[in-house]
Amino acid sequence: METTPQQKDITIEFDCQFRINMGQSDFSSIMKAFLMLLPQLLEDFFQKVLVAFGEYEMACEKKSFVCKCCGNDTQFIWKTRHGKATTVLTWFRYITLKQLQVECKECGSKQYITRMLLGMEPRKRVPEETRHKLALLGALTSYRVAEKFGKMFGWAIDKMTIWKSVQQVGAGMEFVLDENEEPRCEADGTGVGIAGIAKRGKELKVLVQYKKGGGIRVAGIDIGNYNGSWDKLFQKSIGVIKKFKEPFLLMTDGDTAIFESLKEKVTVLIQRCLWHIPYQAQYVLWSDGVKRKSKEWLHVVAELMEICAIRSLVDCPDTIKAMLESKRARLEKVIAYCKEKKYEHCVVYLENARADMFTALENRLEGKTTSRVERLFRTVNMRVNVSKWSTEGALNVTKVRLAYYYNGFDA
Ligand SMILES: [Zn+2]
Repeated sequence: METTPQQKDITIEFDCQFRINMGQSDFSSIMKAFLMLLPQLLEDFFQKVLVAFGEYEMACEKKSFVCKCCGNDTQFIWKTRHGKATTVLTWFRYITLKQLQVECKECGSKQYITRMLLGMEPRKRVPEETRHKLALLGALTSYRVAEKFGKMFGWAIDKMTIWKSVQQVGAGMEFVLDENEEPRCEADGTGVGIAGIAKRGKELKVLVQYKKGGGIRVAGIDIGNYNGSWDKLFQKSIGVIKKFKEPFLLMTDGDTAIFESLKEKVTVLIQRCLWHIPYQAQYVLWSDGVKRKSKEWLHVVAELMEICAIRSLVDCPDTIKAMLESKRARLEKVIAYCKEKKYEHCVVYLENARADMFTALENRLEGKTTSRVERLFRTVNMRVNVSKWSTEGALNVTKVRLAYYYNGFDA
């Protein structure tokens, strides 16, 4: 029978006595001296609390641990309260603890109970809570800056540990559709810089779900090749899609063929997102062998930037109509220019995009809002653009970051 552990009420007597020689009493000297005391203080405090709870356990008839050999959970004797040292990463630094060890009276086998008392898995050195804090830290700012901030305030946690935390926490995160939120999604992609791959060489694909109270949450995320499969993002969510009573609507600017596998199961509404056409165009220009930042490259990209720029403050219908006309005409000129230069990939791409390209603007004429995924991608790029990444590294940091901004992950 499962019983909830009863709330204990244990008083810890913690007298601390330190001897330290100081030459000055100014603020900075006192802070520095305290930072030297901190590890000692922290270790002593942990040790005191653990021994107090260990004593409490040993006085209890039934222990909250069992002998790993025979399953006995009542008969134990102390082996030592200050045994073999082990290290644990607190929020501030690693500390060394002398382990508490007990011996089973039934079979004589010995075991440590320190991690059980800490609520940690055997042999783990980094508690989940520390892991999560470091992961969030490393997702919010660069590893270098995170380490610097820590050092400024007396932590001793290096950027490697922060990096590792981001990787572990990110790798363990799953994003799926939430059946309690809206059956409406946007699927979108943006380029991310990966070390060793030509600029914007990989695509971050995100599936974003609308929330009932407004706002969005992330329901799928992956980094892969451009025009690569989206299936991976949806696989985990297909079960959830089937649970929705209303038809599931998906807005996307992607090639509709990549959603073929989904079409039998869901209704797919296609809508191209205007804002990232210039970025995808850079990829097709590259496919056409156009040199980055050459005169021709700059002309096409700059024109597309202008065409795709949305003046978010414009809400006069006549102005929007005039803008649409002007943008369409300008786009035709860019396509003609690409034809003349024989940028075949670019021509095909723009001609395909043309049909739905201004849906977002037309939507505004009807009072609909534009994609919120743009902001999400800016959030991603603010972090991803400040470092060099492997595909896995970029994916994991993005997962933690988006989980924080959109899915309620906190530490
Ligand atoms: Zn035993």
